[in-house]
Amino acid sequence: MTAISNYSLKSYTTFQTDYSAKSFFACKSENHLISFLEKKENKHTRIFVLGGGSNILFTQNFEGLIINMQNTSIEIIDENDDFAYIKADAGVVWDNFVEFCVNRNFYGVENLSLIPGTVGATPVQNIGAYGVEAKDVIYEVNTVEIDSAKTKIFSNYDCKFGYRDSIFKNEYKNKYVVSSVVFKLSKLEKFNIAYGNIKAELENFENINVQNIRQAVVNIREKKLPNTDELPNAGSFFKNPIISKSLYEELLIKYPTLVSYPISENAVKAAAGQLIDLAGLKGLRKNNVGTHENQALVIVKYAETKGSEIHYFSKFIQQEVYSKFGIQLEAEVIIL
Ligand SMILES: Cc1cc2nc3c(=O)[nH]c(=O)nc-3n(C[C@H](O)[C@H](O)[C@H](O)COP(=O)(O)OP(=O)(O)OC[C@H]3O[C@@H](n4cnc5c(N)ncnc54)[C@H](O)[C@@H]3O)c2cc1C
Repeated sequence: MTAISNYSLKSYTTFQTDYSAKSFFACKSENHLISFLEKKENKHTRIFVLGGGSNILFTQNFEGLIINMQNTSIEIIDENDDFAYIKADAGVVWDNFVEFCVNRNFYGVENLSLIPGTVGATPVQNIGAYGVEAKDVIYEVNTVEIDSAKTKIFSNYDCKFGYRDSIFKNEYKNKYVVSSVVFKLSKLEKFNIAYGNIKAELENFENINVQNIRQAVVNIREKKLPNTDELPNAGSFFKNPIISKSLYEELLIKYPTLVSYPISENAVKAAAGQLIDLAGLKGLRKNNVGTHENQALVIVKYAETKGSEIHYFSKFIQQEVYSKFGIQLEAEVIIL
């Protein structure tokens, strides 16, 4: 029940940067976690919970304790004619959970197929794609508080979900470990295929069902996004920025193709990838780091390099976008 010292994190993040953790605890169950956290010798001033590392960039060795949930069971805990309640452990690979649901004709997560990472991160990140967010299907979140080693259940409402956001990234940042998540999925046929190219991709299939929607999403993502094993990356590096309507209208004169999504009367959300593209930075490569040639929002590592070099490159992109549009891009990736 002890942590391992000086543990390599290279294979624990999709950027695969070569750093280590001072201490690393591979946790097999909620009880294992509680017993570990109860011990005085396991109190650390700096603790970080690492899932699949698909939204993380380490830029130096981590001088603290990393907790990595490795519990992997999935269980249907209740069901009625309309809904199934499924409890998935934090360490379950997210896409394995999606597959589990789709194979049983449970509806609600098929649009989130192939998003990298683990179940434990989904309530933290409120992952989303193709018009669906994790918050639409999360029923409750089972956690253990790091300081007290006590369990606490968060309802969907308690999680304060927002766009790629939750209470676990704000008031309770690094305070709770998610041990498992209970999802509520529909057993009644319910599709959401209005977003992106899903409809167009489904034309290649004989009929529309949950399995084919999953496959359509997988096909689109495989075409669109670089494989992290071939070109290490962490998906979208920046968040889509929210800007004032007046700035948007000003920019529209010079850039008539600029897209936006309404947020409020005075604010719109711009597309970070398009801004990088319009700034002439799509496909830009500096040494071993660059923006992907098809997806400007994805920063990729072309060959072995330091996390700090990836970080500098991301800052360069931020500066260029700011000087061109007056818009400050904020990193979505967590930089440690
Ligand atoms: C190619 C690619 C495509 C992507 N596409 C999408 C997409 O379409 N939509 C989307 O939303 N995201 C996308 N992402 C981002 C990423 O997949 C998600 O953010 C995912 O939820 C991260 O999961 P993870 O297990 O890797 O978490 P990590 O990256 O390890 O951690 C992310 C955060 O969650 C916290 N965390 C992880 N596990 C736990 C736990 N058990 N308890 C408490 N906190 C925890 C961490 O402390 C950290 O704050 C993509 C990433 C890549 C590489």
